[in-house]
Amino acid sequence: MSDDLSDLYQQVILDHSRSPRNFRALPDADRTAQGHNPLCGDNYTLYAKLDGEVVRELTFQGSGCAISKASASILTETLKGKTRAEVQALFDKVHHLITTGQATGSLGKLDALAGVHKFPARVKCAMLPWHAALAAVTGEARVVSTENPAD
Ligand code: ZN
Repeated sequence: MSDDLSDLYQQVILDHSRSPRNFRALPDADRTAQGHNPLCGDNYTLYAKLDGEVVRELTFQGSGCAISKASASILTETLKGKTRAEVQALFDKVHHLITTGQATGSLGKLDALAGVHKFPARVKCAMLPWHAALAAVTGEARVVSTENPAD
């Protein structure tokens, strides 16, 4: 990998930021969480519908930079059908990937986020949807801000 911006703006990132998946409100969501990154201006709402321990639907709305939007889009595709425990486990793996660039095994499309670690200001953008999704799925908080979590 080269140390330039093309690492950050991989094709997968560009594709998901231009055509975000599951980019809509979920009227019958039983959980929502908001994520706000004041440093960049990223602002999203995550909508989750759970069936017991399993994520049945996960959608998002809002606005922000290409990295945060792509991260949210890939997240909604990845977490659908996962259990709460699996969401927590993936959160930890993604956090490790985004902050260090090192993956513990392939994470599929999430691997596209590996280049983010070279750009510290973008780490919060990439992690924001994950903090919000974790809050929505585990029900720990309704509003998360990158200025609160210890990452
Ligand atoms: Zn951002």
